Amino acid sequence: MPADNLIPDMTDAEFRDALAKVGDWMAGYRSRVGNMPVLSRAVPGQIEKALPQVAPVRGEPVEKWLKDLEQVILPAVTHWNHPGFMAYFGITASAPGILGEMVSSVLNVNGMLWKTSPALVELEQVVLRWLASAMGLPADWFGMITDTASTSTLVALAAAREAADLNVREDGLSSKPPLVLYCSQEAHSSVDKAGLVLGTGMQGIRHIPTDGEFRMNCDALREAIKNDIAQKRRPFAVVATVGTTSVTAVDPVQKISEVCREFGLWLHVDAAYAGTAAIAPEFRWALRGCDQADSLVTNPHKWLFTPIDCSVLFTRRPDQFRNAFCLVPEYLRTGAEGVVDLMDYSFQLGRRFRALKLWFVFRHFGTEGIAARIREHIRLAHELAGWIDSHPKLERLAPVNFSTVCFRVHPRGMDDEKDLERLNSGVIDKVNAAGEVFLSHTKVRGNYCIRVAIGNLQTSIERVRRAFDLICAAAEI
Ligand code: PLP
Repeated sequence: MPADNLIPDMTDAEFRDALAKVGDWMAGYRSRVGNMPVLSRAVPGQIEKALPQVAPVRGEPVEKWLKDLEQVILPAVTHWNHPGFMAYFGITASAPGILGEMVSSVLNVNGMLWKTSPALVELEQVVLRWLASAMGLPADWFGMITDTASTSTLVALAAAREAADLNVREDGLSSKPPLVLYCSQEAHSSVDKAGLVLGTGMQGIRHIPTDGEFRMNCDALREAIKNDIAQKRRPFAVVATVGTTSVTAVDPVQKISEVCREFGLWLHVDAAYAGTAAIAPEFRWALRGCDQADSLVTNPHKWLFTPIDCSVLFTRRPDQFRNAFCLVPEYLRTGAEGVVDLMDYSFQLGRRFRALKLWFVFRHFGTEGIAARIREHIRLAHELAGWIDSHPKLERLAPVNFSTVCFRVHPRGMDDEKDLERLNSGVIDKVNAAGEVFLSHTKVRGNYCIRVAIGNLQTSIERVRRAFDLICAAAEI
Protein backbone atom coordinates (compact mmCIF):
# COMPACT_ATOMS: atom_id res chain seq x y z
CA MET A 1 0.00 0.00 0.00
CA PRO A 2 1.47 3.40 -0.89
CA ALA A 3 1.65 5.85 2.02
CA ASP A 4 -1.27 8.30 2.06
CA ASN A 5 1.09 11.31 2.13
CA LEU A 6 2.53 10.25 -1.23
CA ILE A 7 1.91 13.55 -3.02
CA PRO A 8 1.49 13.04 -6.77
CA ASP A 9 2.86 15.47 -9.33
CA MET A 10 0.26 18.01 -10.49
CA THR A 11 -2.67 16.58 -12.42
CA ASP A 12 -3.17 17.74 -15.99
CA ALA A 13 -5.84 20.24 -14.83
CA GLU A 14 -3.68 21.54 -11.97
CA PHE A 15 -0.69 21.93 -14.30
CA ARG A 16 -2.73 23.87 -16.88
CA ASP A 17 -4.06 26.11 -14.13
CA ALA A 18 -0.58 26.68 -12.68
CA LEU A 19 0.82 27.32 -16.16
CA ALA A 20 -1.80 30.00 -16.75
CA LYS A 21 -0.96 31.66 -13.42
CA VAL A 22 2.81 31.47 -13.91
CA GLY A 23 2.38 32.53 -17.56
CA ASP A 24 0.37 35.56 -16.44
CA TRP A 25 3.00 36.41 -13.91
CA MET A 26 5.76 36.11 -16.52
CA ALA A 27 3.98 38.27 -19.10
CA GLY A 28 3.14 40.81 -16.39
CA TYR A 29 6.75 40.90 -15.27
CA ARG A 30 7.93 41.66 -18.79
CA SER A 31 5.50 44.53 -19.19
CA ARG A 32 6.24 46.20 -15.84
CA VAL A 33 9.98 45.51 -15.48
CA GLY A 34 10.86 48.89 -16.99
CA ASN A 35 9.18 50.65 -14.07
CA MET A 36 11.08 48.75 -11.38
CA PRO A 37 14.47 49.85 -10.00
CA VAL A 38 16.89 48.11 -12.36
CA LEU A 39 19.54 47.58 -9.70
CA SER A 40 18.20 45.69 -6.72
CA ARG A 41 18.10 47.60 -3.46
CA ALA A 42 18.39 44.43 -1.40
CA VAL A 43 20.74 44.40 1.56
CA PRO A 44 22.92 41.35 2.23
CA GLY A 45 20.99 38.59 3.99
CA GLN A 46 17.58 40.05 3.11
CA ILE A 47 16.26 36.92 1.38
CA GLU A 48 17.70 34.57 3.96
CA LYS A 49 15.88 36.45 6.71
CA ALA A 50 12.60 36.58 4.81
CA LEU A 51 12.33 32.85 4.13
CA PRO A 52 11.86 29.90 6.51
CA GLN A 53 15.04 28.06 7.48
CA VAL A 54 13.56 24.65 6.65
CA ALA A 55 11.51 23.44 3.69
CA PRO A 56 7.72 23.09 4.12
CA VAL A 57 6.75 19.69 5.52
CA ARG A 58 3.49 19.77 3.60
CA GLY A 59 3.20 21.04 0.07
CA GLU A 60 1.78 24.50 -0.58
CA PRO A 61 -0.39 25.85 -3.44
CA VAL A 62 1.11 27.72 -6.36
CA GLU A 63 -0.56 30.99 -5.28
CA LYS A 64 1.63 30.97 -2.16
CA TRP A 65 4.82 30.44 -4.15
CA LEU A 66 3.89 33.28 -6.47
CA LYS A 67 3.16 35.59 -3.55
CA ASP A 68 6.66 34.99 -2.17
CA LEU A 69 8.11 35.38 -5.66
CA GLU A 70 6.48 38.79 -5.87
CA GLN A 71 7.12 39.98 -2.33
CA VAL A 72 10.42 38.39 -1.35
CA ILE A 73 12.31 37.45 -4.49
CA LEU A 74 11.48 40.23 -6.94
CA PRO A 75 12.75 43.11 -4.75
CA ALA A 76 16.11 41.32 -4.59
CA VAL A 77 16.43 40.85 -8.35
CA THR A 78 18.71 43.06 -10.42
CA HIS A 79 16.75 43.21 -13.64
CA TRP A 80 18.94 42.17 -16.55
CA ASN A 81 15.83 42.24 -18.74
CA HIS A 82 15.25 45.93 -17.93
CA PRO A 83 15.54 48.48 -20.75
CA GLY A 84 17.77 50.57 -18.47
CA PHE A 85 20.26 47.75 -17.89
CA MET A 86 23.43 49.16 -19.46
CA ALA A 87 26.04 47.57 -17.21
CA TYR A 88 28.51 44.78 -18.18
CA PHE A 89 26.98 43.70 -21.50
CA GLY A 90 23.30 44.56 -21.96
CA ILE A 91 21.33 41.43 -22.82
CA THR A 92 17.77 40.27 -23.47
CA ALA A 93 15.77 37.15 -22.74
CA SER A 94 13.38 37.68 -25.66
CA ALA A 95 9.89 36.16 -25.59
CA PRO A 96 10.71 33.43 -28.17
CA GLY A 97 13.85 32.59 -26.23
CA ILE A 98 11.85 32.29 -23.00
CA LEU A 99 9.36 30.01 -24.72
CA GLY A 100 12.21 27.83 -25.95
CA GLU A 101 13.56 27.61 -22.40
CA MET A 102 10.15 26.51 -21.16
CA VAL A 103 9.79 23.83 -23.81
CA SER A 104 13.28 22.60 -23.00
CA SER A 105 12.29 22.11 -19.38
CA VAL A 106 9.06 20.26 -20.18
CA LEU A 107 10.92 17.88 -22.52
CA ASN A 108 13.70 17.50 -19.92
CA VAL A 109 15.98 15.57 -22.24
CA ASN A 110 19.67 15.06 -21.68
CA GLY A 111 21.72 15.27 -24.87
CA MET A 112 24.75 13.34 -23.74
CA LEU A 113 24.40 10.88 -26.64
CA TRP A 114 22.58 11.01 -29.98
CA LYS A 115 20.46 8.10 -28.75
CA THR A 116 19.40 9.94 -25.59
CA SER A 117 17.82 12.62 -27.74
CA PRO A 118 18.33 12.61 -31.51
CA ALA A 119 16.30 15.83 -31.75
CA LEU A 120 18.58 17.70 -29.34
CA VAL A 121 21.75 16.66 -31.13
CA GLU A 122 20.49 17.24 -34.65
CA LEU A 123 18.63 20.49 -33.97
CA GLU A 124 21.80 21.80 -32.32
CA GLN A 125 23.80 20.96 -35.46
CA VAL A 126 21.21 22.57 -37.74
CA VAL A 127 20.75 25.77 -35.72
CA LEU A 128 24.50 26.23 -35.34
CA ARG A 129 24.91 25.88 -39.10
CA TRP A 130 22.28 28.63 -39.42
CA LEU A 131 24.25 30.76 -37.00
CA ALA A 132 27.59 30.13 -38.75
CA SER A 133 26.03 31.00 -42.09
CA ALA A 134 24.39 34.15 -40.67
CA MET A 135 27.76 35.26 -39.24
CA GLY A 136 29.62 34.45 -42.47
CA LEU A 137 31.69 31.68 -40.86
CA PRO A 138 32.76 28.59 -42.81
CA ALA A 139 29.86 26.24 -43.53
CA ASP A 140 31.80 23.10 -42.62
CA TRP A 141 32.69 24.10 -39.06
CA PHE A 142 31.45 21.89 -36.25
CA GLY A 143 29.49 23.62 -33.51
CA MET A 144 28.26 22.77 -30.04
CA ILE A 145 26.42 24.67 -27.35
CA THR A 146 27.85 25.08 -23.87
CA ASP A 147 26.67 27.05 -20.87
CA THR A 148 29.11 29.97 -20.98
CA ALA A 149 32.06 31.39 -22.89
CA SER A 150 34.23 30.44 -19.92
CA THR A 151 33.40 26.77 -20.56
CA SER A 152 33.75 27.13 -24.34
CA THR A 153 37.21 28.67 -24.02
CA LEU A 154 38.33 26.07 -21.49
CA VAL A 155 37.19 23.21 -23.73
CA ALA A 156 38.79 24.79 -26.82
CA LEU A 157 42.10 25.30 -25.05
CA ALA A 158 42.03 21.71 -23.80
CA ALA A 159 41.73 20.64 -27.45
CA ALA A 160 44.58 23.03 -28.27
CA ARG A 161 46.75 21.42 -25.59
CA GLU A 162 46.03 18.00 -27.07
CA ALA A 163 46.79 19.27 -30.57
CA ALA A 164 50.26 20.33 -29.38
CA ASP A 165 51.36 16.66 -29.59
CA LEU A 166 52.64 16.54 -26.06
CA ASN A 167 50.55 13.49 -25.20
CA VAL A 168 49.24 15.24 -22.08
CA ARG A 169 46.12 13.10 -22.11
CA GLU A 170 48.24 9.98 -21.47
CA ASP A 171 51.16 11.35 -19.47
CA GLY A 172 49.80 14.35 -17.58
CA LEU A 173 51.95 17.45 -17.27
CA SER A 174 54.72 16.54 -14.85
CA SER A 175 57.33 15.56 -17.44
CA LYS A 176 56.43 18.29 -19.95
CA PRO A 177 58.01 21.66 -20.66
CA PRO A 178 56.03 24.59 -19.14
CA LEU A 179 53.02 25.38 -21.34
CA VAL A 180 52.46 28.96 -22.51
CA LEU A 181 49.26 30.63 -23.65
CA TYR A 182 48.98 34.11 -25.26
CA CYS A 183 46.24 36.72 -25.24
CA SER A 184 46.14 40.51 -25.16
CA GLN A 185 46.18 42.70 -22.08
CA GLU A 186 42.53 43.35 -22.80
CA ALA A 187 41.46 39.67 -22.91
CA HIS A 188 38.72 38.43 -20.58
CA SER A 189 39.67 36.78 -17.30
CA SER A 190 38.06 33.54 -18.51
CA VAL A 191 41.17 33.01 -20.68
CA ASP A 192 43.40 33.20 -17.61
CA LYS A 193 41.09 30.87 -15.73
CA ALA A 194 41.21 28.33 -18.57
CA GLY A 195 45.01 28.50 -18.38
CA LEU A 196 44.86 27.90 -14.63
CA VAL A 197 42.67 24.81 -15.09
CA LEU A 198 44.87 23.47 -17.90
CA GLY A 199 48.10 23.78 -15.95
CA THR A 200 49.86 26.85 -17.37
CA GLY A 201 49.85 28.65 -14.03
CA MET A 202 49.75 32.44 -14.21
CA GLN A 203 53.47 32.21 -15.12
CA GLY A 204 52.46 30.57 -18.38
CA ILE A 205 49.98 33.23 -19.53
CA ARG A 206 51.38 36.12 -21.58
CA HIS A 207 49.29 39.29 -21.75
CA ILE A 208 50.54 40.89 -24.93
CA PRO A 209 50.53 44.71 -25.08
CA THR A 210 48.03 46.46 -27.30
CA ASP A 211 48.16 49.33 -29.80
CA GLY A 212 46.43 52.74 -29.65
CA GLU A 213 43.08 51.08 -30.35
CA PHE A 214 43.53 48.35 -27.72
CA ARG A 215 44.31 45.61 -30.29
CA MET A 216 46.93 42.95 -29.74
CA ASN A 217 50.36 43.98 -31.02
CA CYS A 218 51.45 41.18 -33.37
CA ASP A 219 55.15 42.07 -33.28
CA ALA A 220 55.09 41.83 -29.50
CA LEU A 221 53.26 38.50 -29.81
CA ARG A 222 55.90 37.09 -32.16
CA GLU A 223 58.72 38.28 -29.88
CA ALA A 224 57.08 36.74 -26.81
CA ILE A 225 56.68 33.38 -28.57
CA LYS A 226 60.30 33.38 -29.76
CA ASN A 227 61.51 34.24 -26.29
CA ASP A 228 59.49 31.41 -24.72
CA ILE A 229 60.81 28.90 -27.26
CA ALA A 230 64.37 30.07 -26.55
CA GLN A 231 63.68 29.50 -22.83
CA LYS A 232 62.53 25.92 -23.62
CA ARG A 233 58.94 26.64 -22.75
CA ARG A 234 56.13 25.25 -24.93
CA PRO A 235 53.75 27.78 -26.53
CA PHE A 236 50.50 26.03 -27.49
CA ALA A 237 47.72 28.56 -28.17
CA VAL A 238 46.84 32.18 -28.83
CA VAL A 239 43.47 33.67 -27.90
CA ALA A 240 42.42 36.63 -30.04
CA THR A 241 39.41 38.69 -28.94
CA VAL A 242 36.73 40.16 -31.18
CA GLY A 243 35.04 42.68 -28.87
CA THR A 244 37.10 42.91 -25.68
CA THR A 245 35.18 43.24 -22.46
CA SER A 246 36.27 46.73 -21.42
CA VAL A 247 36.38 48.65 -24.70
CA THR A 248 35.17 46.12 -27.34
CA ALA A 249 38.44 46.21 -29.28
CA VAL A 250 38.95 43.81 -32.17
CA ASP A 251 42.30 42.05 -32.34
CA PRO A 252 43.89 41.71 -35.82
CA VAL A 253 42.84 38.08 -36.23
CA GLN A 254 44.21 37.71 -39.76
CA LYS A 255 47.72 38.75 -38.70
CA ILE A 256 47.53 36.72 -35.51
CA SER A 257 46.57 33.67 -37.55
CA GLU A 258 49.75 34.12 -39.61
CA VAL A 259 51.82 34.13 -36.42
CA CYS A 260 49.99 31.01 -35.24
CA ARG A 261 50.71 29.26 -38.52
CA GLU A 262 54.39 30.26 -38.36
CA PHE A 263 54.80 28.64 -34.93
CA GLY A 264 52.22 25.85 -35.21
CA LEU A 265 49.93 27.26 -32.49
CA TRP A 266 46.18 26.85 -32.04
CA LEU A 267 44.18 30.04 -32.59
CA HIS A 268 41.06 30.44 -30.48
CA VAL A 269 38.87 33.52 -31.01
CA ASP A 270 36.85 34.92 -28.14
CA ALA A 271 33.94 36.65 -29.88
CA ALA A 272 31.63 36.14 -26.89
CA TYR A 273 30.05 39.57 -27.15
CA ALA A 274 30.71 40.97 -30.63
CA GLY A 275 30.65 37.83 -32.78
CA THR A 276 26.92 37.99 -33.39
CA ALA A 277 27.24 41.59 -34.66
CA ALA A 278 28.49 39.94 -37.88
CA ILE A 279 24.89 38.90 -38.57
CA ALA A 280 24.55 42.48 -39.86
CA PRO A 281 26.63 42.31 -43.07
CA GLU A 282 28.27 45.70 -42.52
CA PHE A 283 29.82 44.33 -39.29
CA ARG A 284 31.28 41.21 -40.94
CA TRP A 285 34.63 43.01 -40.90
CA ALA A 286 34.83 42.19 -37.18
CA LEU A 287 35.33 38.50 -38.02
CA ARG A 288 37.87 39.06 -40.76
CA GLY A 289 40.50 36.33 -40.53
CA CYS A 290 38.37 34.17 -38.22
CA ASP A 291 38.00 31.54 -40.94
CA GLN A 292 41.67 30.81 -40.21
CA ALA A 293 40.97 30.13 -36.53
CA ASP A 294 40.92 26.66 -35.01
CA SER A 295 38.02 27.54 -32.72
CA LEU A 296 35.73 30.46 -31.93
CA VAL A 297 33.24 31.20 -29.19
CA THR A 298 30.25 33.51 -29.39
CA ASN A 299 27.47 33.94 -26.84
CA PRO A 300 23.84 34.11 -27.99
CA HIS A 301 23.05 34.88 -24.36
CA LYS A 302 24.90 38.15 -24.78
CA TRP A 303 23.82 39.82 -28.01
CA LEU A 304 21.44 37.38 -29.66
CA PHE A 305 18.38 37.80 -27.45
CA THR A 306 18.60 34.30 -26.00
CA PRO A 307 18.12 33.73 -22.24
CA ILE A 308 21.20 32.78 -20.31
CA ASP A 309 22.76 30.21 -20.65
CA CYS A 310 23.75 29.71 -24.28
CA SER A 311 27.31 29.88 -25.57
CA VAL A 312 28.35 28.51 -28.95
CA LEU A 313 31.72 26.94 -29.62
CA PHE A 314 32.68 26.47 -33.27
CA THR A 315 35.72 24.57 -34.50
CA ARG A 316 37.22 23.46 -37.76
CA ARG A 317 39.08 20.70 -35.91
CA PRO A 318 36.47 18.61 -34.09
CA ASP A 319 38.85 15.62 -34.16
CA GLN A 320 41.14 17.39 -31.70
CA PHE A 321 38.23 17.80 -29.30
CA ARG A 322 37.56 14.09 -29.56
CA ASN A 323 41.25 13.34 -28.99
CA ALA A 324 41.09 15.40 -25.82
CA PHE A 325 37.76 14.20 -24.47
CA CYS A 326 36.41 11.02 -26.04
CA LEU A 327 36.18 8.42 -23.31
CA VAL A 328 33.29 5.97 -23.48
CA PRO A 329 32.55 3.68 -20.55
CA GLU A 330 30.61 0.48 -21.17
CA TYR A 331 27.33 1.86 -19.83
CA LEU A 332 27.37 4.65 -22.44
CA ARG A 333 28.04 2.48 -25.48
CA THR A 334 25.17 2.57 -27.96
CA GLY A 335 26.40 1.03 -31.20
CA ALA A 336 24.82 3.94 -33.12
CA GLU A 337 26.96 4.77 -36.13
CA GLY A 338 27.38 7.92 -38.20
CA VAL A 339 25.94 10.10 -35.41
CA VAL A 340 27.30 12.86 -33.17
CA ASP A 341 27.59 11.97 -29.49
CA LEU A 342 28.15 15.39 -27.92
CA MET A 343 29.79 13.96 -24.80
CA ASP A 344 32.80 13.05 -26.99
CA TYR A 345 33.66 16.72 -27.55
CA SER A 346 33.80 18.10 -24.02
CA PHE A 347 34.32 17.17 -20.37
CA GLN A 348 30.62 17.37 -19.58
CA LEU A 349 28.34 14.41 -20.01
CA GLY A 350 24.85 15.80 -19.49
CA ARG A 351 23.64 18.75 -21.54
CA ARG A 352 20.43 20.73 -21.76
CA PHE A 353 18.30 21.25 -24.88
CA ARG A 354 19.54 24.80 -25.39
CA ALA A 355 19.22 24.74 -29.17
CA LEU A 356 15.44 25.11 -28.81
CA LYS A 357 15.61 28.67 -27.51
CA LEU A 358 18.09 29.72 -30.17
CA TRP A 359 15.90 28.05 -32.81
CA PHE A 360 12.84 29.96 -31.56
CA VAL A 361 14.82 33.22 -31.62
CA PHE A 362 15.76 32.65 -35.27
CA ARG A 363 12.19 31.61 -36.11
CA HIS A 364 10.72 34.77 -34.56
CA PHE A 365 13.15 37.49 -35.65
CA GLY A 366 14.71 36.00 -38.78
CA THR A 367 18.28 36.96 -39.62
CA GLU A 368 17.07 40.28 -41.07
CA GLY A 369 15.28 41.17 -37.86
CA ILE A 370 18.33 40.29 -35.77
CA ALA A 371 20.63 42.33 -38.03
CA ALA A 372 18.28 45.32 -37.84
CA ARG A 373 18.26 45.25 -34.04
CA ILE A 374 22.05 44.95 -33.79
CA ARG A 375 22.32 47.90 -36.17
CA GLU A 376 19.89 49.88 -34.01
CA HIS A 377 21.86 49.17 -30.82
CA ILE A 378 25.03 50.35 -32.53
CA ARG A 379 23.21 53.47 -33.74
CA LEU A 380 22.11 54.23 -30.17
CA ALA A 381 25.71 53.86 -28.94
CA HIS A 382 26.90 56.30 -31.61
CA GLU A 383 24.19 58.81 -30.65
CA LEU A 384 25.41 58.64 -27.07
CA ALA A 385 29.02 59.01 -28.18
CA GLY A 386 28.02 62.11 -30.18
CA TRP A 387 26.46 63.77 -27.08
CA ILE A 388 29.55 62.91 -25.06
CA ASP A 389 31.94 64.26 -27.66
CA SER A 390 30.13 67.55 -27.89
CA HIS A 391 30.07 68.09 -24.10
CA PRO A 392 33.08 70.07 -22.84
CA LYS A 393 33.21 68.24 -19.50
CA LEU A 394 32.93 64.70 -20.82
CA GLU A 395 35.76 62.71 -22.31
CA ARG A 396 35.49 59.52 -24.35
CA LEU A 397 38.26 57.03 -23.68
CA ALA A 398 37.86 54.46 -26.47
CA PRO A 399 36.45 54.10 -29.99
CA VAL A 400 32.86 52.88 -30.29
CA ASN A 401 33.22 49.71 -32.35
CA PHE A 402 29.85 48.22 -31.43
CA SER A 403 27.27 49.18 -28.80
CA THR A 404 29.50 49.98 -25.82
CA VAL A 405 30.75 53.45 -24.86
CA CYS A 406 33.57 54.20 -22.37
CA PHE A 407 33.88 57.76 -21.12
CA ARG A 408 34.31 59.88 -18.02
CA VAL A 409 33.40 63.17 -16.50
CA HIS A 410 36.53 65.32 -16.76
CA PRO A 411 36.19 68.92 -15.65
CA ARG A 412 38.92 71.22 -16.88
CA GLY A 413 41.75 71.48 -14.34
CA MET A 414 40.97 68.23 -12.53
CA ASP A 415 43.81 65.94 -13.61
CA ASP A 416 44.58 63.83 -10.59
CA GLU A 417 43.51 60.24 -11.40
CA LYS A 418 42.33 59.57 -7.87
CA ASP A 419 40.11 62.66 -7.91
CA LEU A 420 38.70 61.67 -11.28
CA GLU A 421 38.01 58.14 -10.08
CA ARG A 422 36.23 59.46 -6.98
CA LEU A 423 34.15 61.82 -9.09
CA ASN A 424 33.16 59.22 -11.68
CA SER A 425 32.45 56.39 -9.26
CA GLY A 426 30.30 58.83 -7.29
CA VAL A 427 28.39 59.66 -10.48
CA ILE A 428 27.78 55.96 -11.18
CA ASP A 429 26.59 55.37 -7.61
CA LYS A 430 24.18 58.31 -7.77
CA VAL A 431 22.76 57.28 -11.14
CA ASN A 432 22.37 53.65 -10.08
CA ALA A 433 20.65 54.63 -6.85
CA ALA A 434 17.93 56.41 -8.84
CA GLY A 435 16.89 53.06 -10.36
CA GLU A 436 16.17 54.05 -13.96
CA VAL A 437 19.42 52.78 -15.44
CA PHE A 438 22.23 50.56 -14.24
CA LEU A 439 25.79 51.48 -15.27
CA SER A 440 29.09 49.77 -14.50
CA HIS A 441 32.68 50.91 -14.81
CA THR A 442 36.02 49.78 -16.13
CA LYS A 443 39.56 51.11 -16.33
CA VAL A 444 40.99 52.12 -19.69
CA ARG A 445 44.80 52.25 -19.58
CA GLY A 446 44.47 52.59 -15.84
CA ASN A 447 41.92 55.42 -16.04
CA TYR A 448 38.60 54.81 -14.29
CA CYS A 449 35.60 55.35 -16.55
CA ILE A 450 31.86 54.94 -16.93
CA ARG A 451 30.87 52.15 -19.32
CA VAL A 452 27.48 52.12 -21.05
CA ALA A 453 26.62 48.90 -22.90
CA ILE A 454 23.45 48.79 -24.98
CA GLY A 455 21.97 45.39 -25.78
CA ASN A 456 18.38 45.13 -24.57
CA LEU A 457 15.54 44.85 -27.09
CA GLN A 458 13.51 47.40 -25.15
CA THR A 459 16.24 50.03 -24.84
CA SER A 460 15.11 53.09 -26.77
CA ILE A 461 16.78 56.36 -27.70
CA GLU A 462 14.72 58.02 -24.93
CA ARG A 463 16.18 55.64 -22.34
CA VAL A 464 19.72 56.30 -23.59
CA ARG A 465 19.09 60.05 -23.48
CA ARG A 466 17.74 59.67 -19.96
CA ALA A 467 20.92 57.85 -18.94
CA PHE A 468 22.99 60.69 -20.41
CA ASP A 469 20.91 63.34 -18.63
CA LEU A 470 21.10 61.47 -15.33
CA ILE A 471 24.90 61.27 -15.64
CA CYS A 472 25.16 65.00 -16.37
CA ALA A 473 22.84 65.82 -13.46
CA ALA A 474 24.75 63.56 -11.06
CA ALA A 475 28.02 65.18 -12.13
CA GLU A 476 26.45 68.65 -11.93
CA ILE A 477 27.75 69.53 -15.38
N1 PLP B 1 34.72 36.75 -23.15
C1 PLP B 1 34.36 38.04 -23.22
C2 PLP B 1 34.96 38.92 -24.27
C3 PLP B 1 33.42 38.54 -22.31
O1 PLP B 1 33.08 39.84 -22.35
C4 PLP B 1 32.86 37.67 -21.34
C5 PLP B 1 31.86 38.17 -20.39
O2 PLP B 1 31.40 39.27 -20.42
C6 PLP B 1 33.28 36.34 -21.32
C7 PLP B 1 34.22 35.91 -22.24
C8 PLP B 1 32.74 35.38 -20.31
O3 PLP B 1 31.43 35.05 -20.62
P1 PLP B 1 30.61 33.93 -19.83
O4 PLP B 1 29.96 34.63 -18.69
O5 PLP B 1 29.65 33.40 -20.83
O6 PLP B 1 31.60 32.90 -19.37
